[in-house]
Amino acid sequence: MSDEVRHVLLLSGGKDSTSLALYMRDKCADIDFEYLFCDTHKELPETYEYLARIEAYLGKPVTRLASRGDERGFDHHLKIYGGYLPSPQMRWCTRQLKIEPFEKHVGDDPVRLYVGIRADERRSGYISTKENITPVFPFKEDGLGKADILRILEESGVGLPKYYEWRSRSGCYFCFFQQRAEWVRLRERHPDLFEKAKAYEKEEAGYTWSQGESLSELEQPDRMREILRKDEQRKARSQKRRKATNLSQAFGFSELEDDESDACLICHL
Ligand code: SF4
Repeated sequence: MSDEVRHVLLLSGGKDSTSLALYMRDKCADIDFEYLFCDTHKELPETYEYLARIEAYLGKPVTRLASRGDERGFDHHLKIYGGYLPSPQMRWCTRQLKIEPFEKHVGDDPVRLYVGIRADERRSGYISTKENITPVFPFKEDGLGKADILRILEESGVGLPKYYEWRSRSGCYFCFFQQRAEWVRLRERHPDLFEKAKAYEKEEAGYTWSQGESLSELEQPDRMREILRKDEQRKARSQKRRKATNLSQAFGFSELEDDESDACLICHL
């Protein structure tokens, strides 16, 4: 255990934590930040590409933390949980694959953990129960909202991760927080990953990623058409409600939606 405070920034591969890393690097040039990424080995290829880009812009490596290696990652824990897939009610994946590797990595050292929750969000984010980990919320403290985050990413040249073209969050390719339309788009963009996600389901035991519908049912052509049609209607309604900011329009991000209301607190920052 060291007495020196470690300044840690957990990257999720999403826009907010990335923007925070860039913001803090410029704001506190004298601080030696540690950049961490909890790798479930089940992330999207776009996330791994984005991490490589972030490293290049930060000029520092991002340490990948894993749940004691590939062989003890998601599949290992799934066996322990008797094949019971994680869900919003039973988020064992977050604890086993994200929180524990992170808390183990920092040990008992005093840590300031920089969290990318924005001033325009109501979420409180991941709060560790360990006393040595003190969360800090620079975006909240400095009053920075979504438009500011997008500006930081644009001006730095890092931009957005490519998965935002079809999905609203970072995280595992099979994340149960994704919307049904995102499952359809996963099938279009990464058919191999869709098949892998499907292979985890045990329909007879009721173990499916989406409640009440298996991926085999979801991928029926009529069902996919219906899901996409409803998604278009939902988007049109929300666009009417939302006044797109000039900034997001200027950057071509007017379609970028946040869907973080019930998102995993550590996976999707
Ligand atoms: S991204 Fe989703 S599936 Fe992956 S660890 Fe987080 S909550 Fe679980």
